[in-house]
Amino acid sequence: MTVHSAAAEAGRKPNLFHFTRAPRPMVDRAEGIYLWDRTGRRYIDGSSGAVNVNIGHGNRAVIDAMKRQMNQVCFAYTIHFESEPAVELARGLAARLPNGLERIYFVSGGSEAVEACLKLARQWAVVTGQPKRWKIIGRMPSYHGITVGSLGVTGDDVLTKAFEPMGQPMPLIPAPMVHRDNDNLSLEERGLRYADMLEAKILGEGPESVLAFLMEPIGGAATAALVPPDSYFARIREICDRYGILLIHDEVMTGIGRTGKFLGGDHWNCKPDIISLSKGLSSGYAPLGALAATERIVGPVVAAGGFLHGHTYGGNPVACAAGLAVLGEVDRLGLIGNAAAMGEVLKGELEALTRHFPFVGDVRGKGLLLGAELYADPVTKTPLPPELNANVRLIDLAFERGLIVYSRRVRGGPFSDNFMVAPPLIVTREQIGEIVSVLGDTLEALAA
Ligand code: PMP
Repeated sequence: MTVHSAAAEAGRKPNLFHFTRAPRPMVDRAEGIYLWDRTGRRYIDGSSGAVNVNIGHGNRAVIDAMKRQMNQVCFAYTIHFESEPAVELARGLAARLPNGLERIYFVSGGSEAVEACLKLARQWAVVTGQPKRWKIIGRMPSYHGITVGSLGVTGDDVLTKAFEPMGQPMPLIPAPMVHRDNDNLSLEERGLRYADMLEAKILGEGPESVLAFLMEPIGGAATAALVPPDSYFARIREICDRYGILLIHDEVMTGIGRTGKFLGGDHWNCKPDIISLSKGLSSGYAPLGALAATERIVGPVVAAGGFLHGHTYGGNPVACAAGLAVLGEVDRLGLIGNAAAMGEVLKGELEALTRHFPFVGDVRGKGLLLGAELYADPVTKTPLPPELNANVRLIDLAFERGLIVYSRRVRGGPFSDNFMVAPPLIVTREQIGEIVSVLGDTLEALAA
């Protein structure tokens, strides 16, 4: 790959450091579903950045709204002032969220949003006289963020073990990877089996110590668009209610139309108590995240003196102006409908690819959050040898061919061999053809 980083050009050690491979090409501009580097090379953004650029790059309405806000006021501390973009964005979100998720709190990103959910839940328990409840049950594998708290509920040994004993590792139950199971159960029966593992875990931990269960309604980064069977959702809520445990949905990746509904959980009649949002909320135009919770949770916390949590940049007026304009564009361009329709087209194309490339299997997902597995044998679900590093090779080979697809750059580990294709929700049928054609070339190279 040609290298165009400024430091490499200047032949010196870079000042910037990062977790991923270096050096990378220097980005120059972006428009729609494409990015260009300094040499003029074009990349199709088949991963919407980090599955966040939902409305596509270079959207003028959002950029203009941010400019207007910047000319008015860039920052006003939330302790001192309300700002109209924050108030209006909260109103816009509450109008679109189901089941009384009407109280909104802004932060600057996804990890912070999850962190804020955990802290709100804990403060709720304390102020409602349940101080022994503090454990948050998560799932393995999963990804909920990189701060010490959000990492503590993340099911990813590569990311968590490096920092032990920092943070409090929380109890985990297996994510419902039903596509990998080789048993005689139906999918719905498997869904119930995985949901019942929550009850077993609660009983094992002691129900009086458990505060909440945290899950993504459709798994993203760690499980590549994992869709649980319908039976899973109702049973999870039932179990949470039985033990007085809060249900937190991490909608950081699945929210704001990505899956063909406003929330990932909207595909089912989910009734989470708290949700996290970020990524598509500002679509990459500004750092922004949020939590939304019901009055049942927020009311007692506010009455007891307020949420003991605050971010300097939380509710930043420019970021909220971006979020508000993004919501407007999602409506104006009909992006939720387009995600559903183009998702069907792309899913069909990915399934067609599996017929040409037998090592690709289990295409899944909803809307434009789609994923697949790489297997030695998709029928017996035999994994590829870990030393092949197939997912990392796949994303590198695609990148060399001008296509960005999503896969965790995790070295080894039992859950790595999958990838996602998640282009911006503005993607057209023709552009899907382009994505699939380059993906086909990439798989050809991977097979070689
Ligand atoms: N939760 C989920 C479900 C995510 O996918 C991510 C990001 N991949 C996060 C939380 C963390 O978000 P951020 O990177 O903005 O901190």
